[in-house]
Amino acid sequence: MAETTIETFRCMMCGHEYQEPVVKCEDKERSCPKCRSNSIRHLKKRVTKED
Ligand SMILES: [Zn+2]
Repeated sequence: MAETTIETFRCMMCGHEYQEPVVKCEDKERSCPKCRSNSIRHLKKRVTKED
């Protein structure tokens, strides 16, 4: 059985943030649900520190 977690992503083009279930070890191509750009950045969960 594949493990699925809810991960947060951010679109680098329009700044839209969204969450999506991710199957562990699966590295599929993503695109922004808003602008359909594929410049998606994977945000780490529960990051509280700032740069
Ligand atoms: Zn976007």
